[in-house]
This record gives sequence, structure tokens and C-alpha cells, in this order.
Amino acid sequence: MKSDPEDFRRALLDHFDRRRRPLPWRRERTPYRVMVSEFMLQQTRAETVVPYYDRWLRRFPGWDALAGATADDVLLAWKGLGYYRRARSLHRTAVIVRERYGGRLPGDPAELRTLPGVGEYTAGAVASIAFGVPVPAVDGNVKRVLSRLLDVGDPTAAQLRDEATRLLDPERPGDFNEAIMELGATVCTPRSPRCHRCPVRPHCLADKAGTVGSRPLKRRRPPLPRVDYVTAVVVRGGAPVTLLTRRPATGLLAGMWEFPTAEIHRHPAGATAATGAPAPPPYPPPRPVRRPARSSGPRQAHLQPLSRDLPPRDRAL
Ligand code: SF4
Repeated sequence: MKSDPEDFRRALLDHFDRRRRPLPWRRERTPYRVMVSEFMLQQTRAETVVPYYDRWLRRFPGWDALAGATADDVLLAWKGLGYYRRARSLHRTAVIVRERYGGRLPGDPAELRTLPGVGEYTAGAVASIAFGVPVPAVDGNVKRVLSRLLDVGDPTAAQLRDEATRLLDPERPGDFNEAIMELGATVCTPRSPRCHRCPVRPHCLADKAGTVGSRPLKRRRPPLPRVDYVTAVVVRGGAPVTLLTRRPATGLLAGMWEFPTAEIHRHPAGATAATGAPAPPPYPPPRPVRRPARSSGPRQAHLQPLSRDLPPRDRAL
């Protein structure tokens, strides 16, 4: 039987009020700060985000400062956090907020979803935390918690949304969403959940059924594509100057600087040395190329084949 939502909220929010982590984006919940934190937290742990968030706010304290920055400044401030598409989307969002909304982020989830990089989860989180709109925010942590509460191995998106909406506290939607995400991050963790310390244990059907270890069901990740690249490192002059090129504005590592690099072979998905696949790439072994004495051309160029396992694509935002 499903839990009583009022009992559930009380237990969850009591625990959150006593145990919430003192994260910097919880100090002052302006729409700008909430949006910045939500972009940074996509696919990144809170502890990793903290120093980047503080630095970012010193550099770009509000929408105007961010909208007025160059793309290079924005990428520099994001450097090290990865998934740079998030930085570009946040920058474009700032320009839209300044130009279309007069510097005030809208609180309506449907309108938030029209902004670059804002999907259902981010719209729900920002609307509820920054504006108090009673909408759920279902991220990976919440999916896991709900799967266990419901004792369903592979819940559908509709099941998750319905249950999150049923449990949501209409008086404190932002705190509720943060509390259930925090529960997933600190107590109901993927491996070794601490059920003995869980404030909502009496509501958990998987705990009653003894199925916590298999909730949610583990999905086999699709095999990563495997691609061979060749990279030329070109150094010129006594005080070395290295040739760099910029990647295209879309696609993998969009807009990043790199040594001149070209894709030379794309293997079938799942083909790796370990699986005994693929055929050797169709290029001759690399050899260093030395310039002739007194040449004015590049002093030395090394060709170095690289294999990269492409990272999984950003989660749909
Ligand atoms: S009782 Fe265990 S499995 Fe259930 S919600 Fe709490 S931590 Fe998660």
C-alpha cells in the first residue's frame, strides 16, 4: 500500500530541517543563484561544485554580468567543471533573460523550459526552489528513491512524475524537492543505502519486501562508440609556439581549443581491444617528421594516433 503523503512529508522535511548540508546555494535563493547551481549540479556532485559556484558568483554576480561577458570568459570561469555545453546554455539563457524578460527570470515551468539547456527537471527545480511553484523535480537521485519507495524495478516517467506529485508538499515544494534529492544523495544511495538511518523507512515498500538491492533494476549501458583520431603537435621557433585549432561550434567538445586533430576511423559500437574486435585503422604507423636544416617551416611535427572513448552524452536537461 502506498504511503500517506502527509506522514511522508513530515518525516522527510523534519529530517531535512535537522540534517541538510550547508551548501552555498542554500544561503540565498535568488532565481539567478538557483539557476546557476542547477546548471552546475547536472551530472556533477555537490562537493565538486562548491568551489566553482563561489568563484562563479564572484565573477558573474547576476544576469547582467553574465549576459555581458564574452563566451571565452564564460568558458574560462567554467574551466575544470566539464560538460561545457552547460556553460554555453547558461550564458545564452542570461542573454535571453536580459533581452526578453528585462533581467527577471520567469517562474512558470513551461516558460522556463523554453530556455537553452532547461529541461523538465531543471524547470521543476528552479520553479519550486526559487519561486515556490508546487511542481516536482525528478532527477537521478529522486528516481532511485521513488523506485524503492514504490518497489518498482523499472518505473516509467509517468509513474515517477505521478508519485512525486502525489508526495510533494504544496506548502514547501522547493524544500521538499531538495529534501528528497538530498535523501538520495546521502542516505538512499545507489550502493549500500543506509536504511537504518532513513527517515521514511516506514513508507518504503522495497524495504518491506527485501528488494532494495534490486531497485531500481540495473540497466546495461549501451556500448560506447570507439573512434581513432590522429593529432599533430606542431612546435615552431626558439621560444616555442604551438599550433592550436578551435573545434566546431557544435558536436563533441564544441568550441574547445586543441592540437590539430582529425578522425580517421570509427569502429562499430562496442568494438574494443578487449572484445577482440576491430580491424587496425587504415593509416600507416606514425613517424616523427623532422624539418630540414635552416628550413623556415615547422621545426618538428609528431603524428600521434589517439583512441578516445566518447563520453556519454549530456543527460537531457
Ligand atoms: S528505507 Fe532504504 S531503500 Fe527505502 S527509501 Fe529509505 S534508504 Fe531508500
